[in-house]
Amino acid sequence: MNSADSESLARRLLAAGYVEDSLERADVAILNTCVVRQASENRVYSKLHELKEWKTAERTIALTGCLVGKEGEELRSRFPHLDAVVPIGDYEPFVAELEARYDYSQGEALPHAGRTGVSHYVRVIQGCDHNCTFCIVPKVRGREKHVPMAAVVAECRQAVDDGAREVVLLGQNVDDYRDPNGGGGLAALVREVERIPGLKRLRFLTSHPQDLEVELLEVMASSDVVCRELQLPVQSGDDTVLKRMARGYQTRHYRAIVENARRLMPDIGLVTDVIVGFPGESESAYMNTRALVEELEFDVVHIAMYSPRPTTYAAARMADDVPHEEKLRRLNDLLALSRGIAARKTARWIGREVEVLIEGRDELHRPFGRIRQGKRAIVLRPGDIVAGEVLNMLVMHATAGQLTGLPAA
Ligand code: SF4
Repeated sequence: MNSADSESLARRLLAAGYVEDSLERADVAILNTCVVRQASENRVYSKLHELKEWKTAERTIALTGCLVGKEGEELRSRFPHLDAVVPIGDYEPFVAELEARYDYSQGEALPHAGRTGVSHYVRVIQGCDHNCTFCIVPKVRGREKHVPMAAVVAECRQAVDDGAREVVLLGQNVDDYRDPNGGGGLAALVREVERIPGLKRLRFLTSHPQDLEVELLEVMASSDVVCRELQLPVQSGDDTVLKRMARGYQTRHYRAIVENARRLMPDIGLVTDVIVGFPGESESAYMNTRALVEELEFDVVHIAMYSPRPTTYAAARMADDVPHEEKLRRLNDLLALSRGIAARKTARWIGREVEVLIEGRDELHRPFGRIRQGKRAIVLRPGDIVAGEVLNMLVMHATAGQLTGLPAA
């Protein structure tokens, strides 16, 4: 979501004639911020402190993203060297301020110039209507606002015309998508977008177990364009913890979705998020999470230690009662378990042919990209393979995180 916001602001500034440059040469530095965990918020503060040295009377520092939703204008008094606080998505007043301050009228206006890579992120929902007790997102991004289907399709079509080969539809809870003009939900939107000529791949994230519909899984299974990857945060494998998190589902419901998805797409890539050390998470509750991770064999598990976020229900009403060392132990235990599972699962790709969408070259100049199930892939015979190309690769080697192989004959 933050990448999509950065892209959107960058595109607006490029269209106005600005260019990207190194920090040393730049007149304007813009920080796009995340507050989902305390650690991400702390990184913003340390970056702001670092920028004190860089700041001069001629230079501008601006801050946007979720920290603006959380702290608002107070940030200006806490950080006097901060010139502008820009609400997410409301960029025009800031751009006008910059244009009044710096005369870039000689700059070349280049709509979309250079910003559309192989993948293009399209925000279809802003905000979230759920109220998970640990989550600060609804407070900082507000209630859901849905982008009309026609506007989403037009943006995707433009991106493909500009060179994108993959679009990623984004929403904090993307399954909740409803066209405000009555055109249907996410499954209908996916059907519309996948028809765009020249589009090779379509992804969407993040799904919510309470809202994901079987129809969407059926659309995925029947499409050559929609990727076979589901980002479906479970957060806990224990029903009492899920209830305290106010997630709105139980583990048996989550299992049923995975079962359905695998029945329709046996090789689907499954990515989840887990929080360890949520208030009241007993050892046996943690063991239930561990057992669920073991049973469902996720391809990737993003694990976070619970940290209370201000303004959330959990921070106000629940004691943060799992000691830090215990959270860390559970995190490391689950990491080791999930990495072992991922390594075993990726090894199953060895000897198979996979379709890779090339995104660029790595530090060793090897073409890399991703397979339709989401795994990163490296192609070992560079030749003249270019970004945006789709090729079949024979998998020779696999680690937990990536596949390597040769172009298939
Ligand atoms: S669904 Fe829950 S965790 Fe996800 S953004 Fe909304 S409130 Fe936060």
